[in-house]
Amino acid sequence: MKNTLHNACGIINALCFDIDDLVHGMNMKNGGNFPSEYLVESETYQLLEFLGVLQVKATMFVPGYVAERFPALVGAMADAGHHIASHGHRHIHAERLQRQGFREDITVSKQILEQIVSQHIDTYKDPCWGITPNTPWAYDELIEAGYTIDNTALPSLLKSLGRSSEDMEPFRYKGLLTVIPVTSFSLFSRSMPFNGGLFCAYIPISLQIKYYESLNRRGIPFNYFCHPYELSPQGANRYLWKRKAVAAGLYGLYFGKYRRYIEQLAVHFRFGSLKDAYESFINQSVEGCVSTFPVLVQSSLNH
Ligand SMILES: [Zn+2]
Repeated sequence: MKNTLHNACGIINALCFDIDDLVHGMNMKNGGNFPSEYLVESETYQLLEFLGVLQVKATMFVPGYVAERFPALVGAMADAGHHIASHGHRHIHAERLQRQGFREDITVSKQILEQIVSQHIDTYKDPCWGITPNTPWAYDELIEAGYTIDNTALPSLLKSLGRSSEDMEPFRYKGLLTVIPVTSFSLFSRSMPFNGGLFCAYIPISLQIKYYESLNRRGIPFNYFCHPYELSPQGANRYLWKRKAVAAGLYGLYFGKYRRYIEQLAVHFRFGSLKDAYESFINQSVEGCVSTFPVLVQSSLNH
């Protein structure tokens, strides 16, 4: 199926993938000891084939541990024209790493990716949305390490940065880091993430399309993501999680659904990488598009 660009306003929305190995990620998060077959390689090649058919370019957030094991896979993503970005090294979130560990992790992951693709890696997303109000140093560390774009900010983080939790417009942190908030949905004055993955897994695609159409009509691009195992689960990922506890079952039950979700979204919307979708915000020469970070909050975060 081809990306048929049905939306009238021609807005480009961002399609992103976190190139995680599911079992490895669960082990790192929960300290578990699941034997991993590293299905991420075959799942991601399937994803590349799928995107090739749709003729869509995306942002690929690649953890360093995946890049180290499968450098050819990262090369294939770059060769296919996708935007390569960092998803940390060991897939441990910032809150758990703490400042020094975070600094090392984001630096190593950047070096590994840059060595493979011979391009400057400037875009970041923290594993498990781990940049939170408890990590006020994280954005300063990203700047220090040479990143200029982040896509981790959930509504709860926006609030602590002195912005509205409903805000979906990118802004510049300290004039140096373009923060692209996670697309959200507000209900009874509470904002929640609404950008694919587990957040949208059980929301009918027709409702998702309606909501995103309403954003595009207001001139707002949305960002949408999933993991390769949610789109093209291979081997054990087709059934492993259905055999575990109820919560794990609910998690694994929808694997594979995202193939249909993204096919349908691609019929209604125009997609590209984060840089394509938010170019006017990222490009500093375009005036009036980026609001600046509030001075008062800047100084309070320095402590
Ligand atoms: Zn991840």
